[in-house]
Amino acid sequence: KGLKQYFPIKGGFFGRTVNHVKAVDDISFTIYEGETLSIVGESGCGKSTTGRAILRLDEPTAGEITFQGQDVLRLSKSGLRAMRKDMQVIFQDPFASLNPRQTVRQILGEALTIQQVVPKERQADRIMELLSYVGLRADHIDRYPHEFSGGQRQRIGIARALAVQPKLMICDEAVSALDVSIQAQVLNLLKKLQEEHKLTYLFISHDLGVVRHISDRVMVMYLGKIVEIADKKSLFENPQHPYTKALLSAIPTPDRKEKRERILLKGDIPSPIDPPQGCRFHTRCPLAVDACRSQTPELRQVGDEHRVACHLA
Ligand code: SF4
Ligand code: MG
Repeated sequence: KGLKQYFPIKGGFFGRTVNHVKAVDDISFTIYEGETLSIVGESGCGKSTTGRAILRLDEPTAGEITFQGQDVLRLSKSGLRAMRKDMQVIFQDPFASLNPRQTVRQILGEALTIQQVVPKERQADRIMELLSYVGLRADHIDRYPHEFSGGQRQRIGIARALAVQPKLMICDEAVSALDVSIQAQVLNLLKKLQEEHKLTYLFISHDLGVVRHISDRVMVMYLGKIVEIADKKSLFENPQHPYTKALLSAIPTPDRKEKRERILLKGDIPSPIDPPQGCRFHTRCPLAVDACRSQTPELRQVGDEHRVACHLA
């Protein structure tokens, strides 16, 4: 609620803070238990920053984060440790997050040991179980990360996240580095695991084509703000925000009914240090009117599960 993440920019003789990057600027939303909420937007829109704030990898500048009734920003050290078990993250590049000198057995064993989820003597069985959940073979257990393909490495990353039996998984561009056919396999795996383990996903991606396969609801961000949030069907079939429409027009649609004119946005994304007044999208919006330059559009309800921030919606 009211989440802000401003990163200071240091400068001048004394390294004083001279300005801020307003990476996330006052956003409020809910993730429902058991759902997949996706955040989409171009790089720099604040989607990863939002994920990091929820995980408390960064301290937010302002706002509240509530997880299972607990005030995440006021947790004690032990409270935070317990919460870390319930929230796991999968990143784009599993290679960067897997220790190259550790075998799969060691990587998963470490996750199990740190969080003390199973007694030592049960660990080997549990590792085998995790491998089978993510579609890896038993004889993969003593191999090193470099012996696997990108898709398999992401499966190891997923197994490691799963090891501690989390409730919420934050997937930050989790399939973005993979080939399209491998992407589909990993997305299917994530879906299967969600059902089997009652997981909730926050799925962060720049790719609406990917998001379409996995989401229940989709939230579109632009320059640190939520511009539209809706259930998947409404968002794809009845987008209201000009930015969402432009993003959608760029993805190939298998369905004729949805054929859209390609909407090309002019110009670049403005700097998050000094974002445009009024609607932040007005410098690129094909529909902008005078009011857009001075008045900030609020997120307004336009349907049951559909809110949009545009004066014309
Ligand atoms: Fe475009 Fe104005 Fe709507 Fe912003 S408020 S998206 S500038 S029409
Ligand atoms: Mg990112």
